[in-house]
Amino acid sequence: MQDKKLFYITTTLPYVNADLHIGHALEFVRADSVARFKRSTGYDVFFNTGSDEHGAKIFESAQEKGISPQSYVDSLVGGFKEVHTLLNISYDGFIRTTDTQHIQAAQEMWNRCLDRGYIYKKNYKTKYCVGCELSKTESELVSGVCPIHPNREIQIIEEENYFFKWSVFQNELLDKYTKEPEFVIPSTRLNEIRSFVERGLEDFSISRLKEKMPWGVPVPGDDDHVMYVWFDALTSYISGLGWPNEEGKFSKYWLQESQTREVVQYCGKDNLRQQSAMWQAMLMASELPCSTRIVINGFIMSGGLKMSKSVGNVLSPMSLIQRYNQQTEYPEDVLRFVLLHDVPSFEDGDITIESIENSYTAHLVNGIGNLTNRIMKMATTHNIISLDTEKYISPEIIEAMNSFDTKKAIEHCMGDVRRLDKFIQETEPFKVVKVNEEKGHILIGECLSDLRNIACNLELFMPRTGAKILECIEEHKMPEKALFRRE
Ligand SMILES: [Zn+2]
Repeated sequence: MQDKKLFYITTTLPYVNADLHIGHALEFVRADSVARFKRSTGYDVFFNTGSDEHGAKIFESAQEKGISPQSYVDSLVGGFKEVHTLLNISYDGFIRTTDTQHIQAAQEMWNRCLDRGYIYKKNYKTKYCVGCELSKTESELVSGVCPIHPNREIQIIEEENYFFKWSVFQNELLDKYTKEPEFVIPSTRLNEIRSFVERGLEDFSISRLKEKMPWGVPVPGDDDHVMYVWFDALTSYISGLGWPNEEGKFSKYWLQESQTREVVQYCGKDNLRQQSAMWQAMLMASELPCSTRIVINGFIMSGGLKMSKSVGNVLSPMSLIQRYNQQTEYPEDVLRFVLLHDVPSFEDGDITIESIENSYTAHLVNGIGNLTNRIMKMATTHNIISLDTEKYISPEIIEAMNSFDTKKAIEHCMGDVRRLDKFIQETEPFKVVKVNEEKGHILIGECLSDLRNIACNLELFMPRTGAKILECIEEHKMPEKALFRRE
């Protein structure tokens, strides 16, 4: 038996208490489509995700509610996972940073870095944004506040903390960026992180005094400190594979002893530094192999503005799914379609209720939904069946997905829908079959076969819609209701 090629992909782990916003949905859906693509092209895939359950924000919220942080996160994780289910995210592993196994991993990561001389203790004072859970330099602040979290006051932290010797990894990181020009996608983001690292790295604090912020992984051998949330959270990319146990899943999916090792992390552009420089240096320090690809998403705006409650332009993933509940049996696929098709793969995008409506009508109601009805009507009326059983992915989609260009890939799929529509308009098989039955049957058979190919491709992006079309073809029936309706 030939071993399958291996592929590891992970999202970032959002805070379990955050309202999952459209940017999270974007990251989940893109990583999910890539995972489905790899599986369908013969890879053995591990798709990791999970929830970040430590840090000052969670501690503060639990205190406000008057319950322990652990009870607080336990009460939230079910609802958090529900979002993944509603979005139909095909993850293989879900790691919580409060899982015992993860805590052991974070402590092992600490011990390895400590043993190799990359952790030391010093006094420091810093300006800190609790929103980002990051120290901010003066140049990163705008009018004294974090531009991403203008409503949160910047905290001044002054204490004795443990530090990670990030600065010593400057050259090793720059070497990696040079040797692997596609390590960060898109290249503009690689240039951005390279310039950041070239300016020189400052060692970063990796602990907090327990008396000020007790909610974190205990620092091994020092009861006064807990780990800084990023040092803990980043380790989830390997604790999700059972690390520090180096046998089993970790050995299989992270080490992947092959020339074409693929270890992919998806994240938003606000995570560039953590993923492509901090975490990579932690891996170098602990003598573990680095990731091979960091794919960076842009932000989603609405009507030219950042989404915010005060502007009133927030589009929440759950409300968008609900909005289409009456019009289709596959409402999550509407959201998945919009995120994959209407937002650039790597740059910022803009969607509004109007743009979503237009897209829904043009591509789903009048596009794939209508096409499926037309073809299944002809096929069932004239008793044309498909004998195909192979899953088909078109070469253009393979090329786009291998470059993580999910938008280009789904656009190609929609192009196939339009081409097939045009073919039906031009050849009019429903008319031909009345005057030349044999020729008509051949044309309908071609339409059915092309529709089947489209459905196979569509399954990567809109899994239940694609599967439903395939079911109709296999069972030789019309969809019970139009797939996408205007109601
Ligand atoms: Zn911030």
